[in-house]
Amino acid sequence: MKKIVIAIDGFSSCGKSTMAKALARSINYLYFDSGAMYRAVAFYCMQNGIIANGEIDTEKLRTAMSDIKITFAADEETKNSVTYLNGVNVESEIRTLEVSQHVSRVAALDFVRAALIEQQREMGKAKGIVMDGRDIGTTVFPDAELKIFVTASAEVRARRRYDELVARGSNPDYQEILANVIERDHLDQTREVSPLRKADDALLLDNSNMTIEGQLQWLCEQYKKIAEQ
Ligand code: C5P
Repeated sequence: MKKIVIAIDGFSSCGKSTMAKALARSINYLYFDSGAMYRAVAFYCMQNGIIANGEIDTEKLRTAMSDIKITFAADEETKNSVTYLNGVNVESEIRTLEVSQHVSRVAALDFVRAALIEQQREMGKAKGIVMDGRDIGTTVFPDAELKIFVTASAEVRARRRYDELVARGSNPDYQEILANVIERDHLDQTREVSPLRKADDALLLDNSNMTIEGQLQWLCEQYKKIAEQ
């Protein structure tokens, strides 16, 4: 089997990371969550007074970018990938609704994208990776051998995010989450730098009515078709 790069892009909360993780595990590839990197930058801004009253101090963030180091390591027990910001595990802190409410504005800044894209390309140098995000197949790895673009209705995605937050022990408001999903779709699709769009050569997967097992089976089939060539 040849080693390839698998790019999984799509709208927020459509289960990309669940399927990307499951695929990586089943074919023994490394998994990278590019959204976690943008979330970590947004979280850094919140912690360091770079975001106040919804406004981003872009000049302060530009200077701070060289001090922001994001790494991933596998959790010893679960083997799941955990996000570290300057050596500190921030995996649960970056998943809050507050971070979700700021992240798309941070991700629209060209210098933030340039810095993270460079790190993402480094992660894929040796191939054998699955990376999910918004611009992986269009910008980060335009030559990825397998590209998937995932979508599902906004309501289905908001319900999934709601269930995820409940499972983490919080008490979320469904309407607030739905509004956030719709707002992030809009910001991600209309930003100037690397807007969210399906690469021309990406396969479209609408998983509104698919089980996780069904998606994994479909993905493994697409992977085999390419890696066995
Ligand atoms: O995937 P997730 O929802 O965790 O990503 C959080 C946010 O990060 C997205 O809403 C999007 O604004 C941004 N993002 C991005 N490019 C990526 C991955 C995520 O702009 N490759």
